[in-house]
Amino acid sequence: MALKFRYSERLKKLPPYLFAEIDKIKRKLLQEGKDIIDLGVGDPDIPTPTHMIERLYKAAQDPKNHNYALDAGMPELRKAIASWYKKRFDIDLDPQEEVLPLIGSKEGIAHIPLAFVNPGDVVLIPEPGYPVYFSSTVFAGGDPYFMPLLEKNSFLPVYHDIDAQELKKAKLMFLNYPNNPTSATCDMSFFENTVEFAKKNNIIVCHDAAYTEIFFDGKKQPSFLQAGGAKDVGIEFHSLSKTFCMTGWRIGFAVGNPDIIKGLGKIKSNIDSGIFQAIQLAGIEALERGESDTRRFNKIYQERRDIFVEGLNSLGWKAGKPDATFYIWLKVPPGYTSSELAMVLLKECNIVCTPGNGFGEDGEGYVRFALTRDKGRIIEALERIRKLHEKRS
Ligand SMILES: *Cc1c(COP(=O)(O)O)cnc(C)c1O
Repeated sequence: MALKFRYSERLKKLPPYLFAEIDKIKRKLLQEGKDIIDLGVGDPDIPTPTHMIERLYKAAQDPKNHNYALDAGMPELRKAIASWYKKRFDIDLDPQEEVLPLIGSKEGIAHIPLAFVNPGDVVLIPEPGYPVYFSSTVFAGGDPYFMPLLEKNSFLPVYHDIDAQELKKAKLMFLNYPNNPTSATCDMSFFENTVEFAKKNNIIVCHDAAYTEIFFDGKKQPSFLQAGGAKDVGIEFHSLSKTFCMTGWRIGFAVGNPDIIKGLGKIKSNIDSGIFQAIQLAGIEALERGESDTRRFNKIYQERRDIFVEGLNSLGWKAGKPDATFYIWLKVPPGYTSSELAMVLLKECNIVCTPGNGFGEDGEGYVRFALTRDKGRIIEALERIRKLHEKRS
């Protein structure tokens, strides 16, 4: 007879999975042969550009790339990351000390609290937010403290609202701009205030910059490290996933304060053994020659954004056009909760979106659409929503 297994306390602390019901119905509809338009996951439909694939293909054939990689990443990759940062943000980074390649930025975000957070330490987490900030905190034995991102505050945390007792125990904070799920952006003055706040309260800042390259109308987004003194307090996580449509490749990086980078590196060298070198070489290809690809992606997302937002607005469903990210954070029309709207869209329109409360309590009242399906599907989705709207009003 099999032993009886019990999950660890840390696993028991994870919140219940809110999308189980939606997943179940989605599976059932798919089985019935329904034509589902999935605007749920933030995973681009656009294929990885050919030159990255060619680079991988060539590198995979070279036996030199078949061994364990260096934990800290190939020197060439670290240099390419530093050069990319210099070119994009005009920030100087030491490729040895201030750059760390990751197996996707999620990996680094999941591991960073293990390096700096002790049981009883508080971690400040934006909410609604990317769920990994919470789970990584809990896995390290830390206590999550949520900073609400509210529309009336332009979806920025309000530092002076943080409970004074909790603030004393705070060790680390996560931030994410351009933001998932709200698609909000921030300016340099917010990052400068953040540096000041972090210095005053002795808090490590971990800025998740997964979407700095997905911007529209030429509105380039800042890096946290551009704020004066940022390198004294924090690091920034970046990802090749969204920037170069390489989600499945698993490559990202952390840059910034050398002591923080070193701590993360120590954790990692005890857990993984680096990124497959052929993928690192494809990553270099992306960083050195992928800018025009990103520009092309952004044109595509911008067109989808315009079509979708204008379509929703014509139905009286008020949404703004975000300056960055491929998400539309829609305030649900009166009469629905987040889950109710998501369920109606799924059952009656066969459209998948994500209920906002899945990203935290303050996400209630919103749903998130990921514009990761092509223009034709976006137009089809709007058509279905229009029919639903007519039926219901
Ligand atoms: C997609 C995403 C990531 C993870 O990216 P990977 O590099 O693929 O792990 C991190 N943070 C946010 C907010 C994201 O949306």
